[in-house]
Amino acid sequence: MEIRIGQGIDIHPFREGRRCVLGGVEIPSSRGLLGHSDADALTHALIDALLGAIGERDIGTLFPDTDPALKDADSVEMLRKVWALAAADRWSLANADLTLLAQVPRIKPHVQAMQQRLSEALGCDPSRVTIKATTTERLGFIGREEGVLASAVVLIQR
Ligand code: MG
Repeated sequence: MEIRIGQGIDIHPFREGRRCVLGGVEIPSSRGLLGHSDADALTHALIDALLGAIGERDIGTLFPDTDPALKDADSVEMLRKVWALAAADRWSLANADLTLLAQVPRIKPHVQAMQQRLSEALGCDPSRVTIKATTTERLGFIGREEGVLASAVVLIQR
């Protein structure tokens, strides 16, 4: 059996009046995340981790922020496209482990819905997609509630 690992990191700033979408789930919040698409940092980190694992270029190359079709786009649809590339190459997902660094919002009540949505896009059991969060104890840009950082590691096998 062949196995590959991939890692992805993404950062997005907060903006008033934007939706707050993380892990494919909209979280009630006075401020959302700024970006060309829906700015779903968790899903973007997962996409970059998968792209790394299958030896493709990064998310910005595949889905450029100059593409008008991607304005406010659902990042889970991008994830579906990337996973289709992997599946076409006979890869299956061993697991994906995601971490969100955020002072706000608290995502715990939404983690199960995120696991459902992301695992559905990946065609796997929700138990293969784990999502956790931590604050930075108020340190740095995350602690000042200026933005969030998401990190993802994936293992694929065939
Ligand atoms: Mg991004």
